[in-house]
Amino acid sequence: MDDCVFCSIVAGQLPAEVLATSSEAIAIQDRNPVAPVHALVISKRHVESVHAIGKEDEHVLMDCLRLVRHVADLQGVGDGYRILSNVGLQGGQTVFHLHIHLLGGTELGPLLPSKQGGT
Ligand code: AMP
Ligand code: ZN
Repeated sequence: MDDCVFCSIVAGQLPAEVLATSSEAIAIQDRNPVAPVHALVISKRHVESVHAIGKEDEHVLMDCLRLVRHVADLQGVGDGYRILSNVGLQGGQTVFHLHIHLLGGTELGPLLPSKQGGT
């Protein structure tokens, strides 16, 4: 897809620190990390988001999750990390090409700190 930063990275037209690859995805270092470990697992195919995945592409998501686990182990955070995938403007997505954030290397705490856990 033209003008898609992640398609350009997948095509090797834009530099990125590649951490690992799989048949359907590549993992790169996020250029603006918000945690000591912050990788992005990006589908090789241009799909806009998790929400846009069609039935025929569901294996792509599974492959991305397998790569997430591999990269978590590579980065030494296999015992605890967070994954998230923003969807749409309202969901905070800024690059409209399917990707999963892998965050770790620190105590991440609750996702929504204002919420009390438990009851
Ligand atoms: P999102 O806001 O969920 O769409 O996440 C996009 C992420 O991509 C952000 O965390 C950016 O820091 C990251 N990002 C954008 N462009 C690049 C790039 N060229 N190389 C590495 N990470 C990037
Ligand atoms: Zn793309």
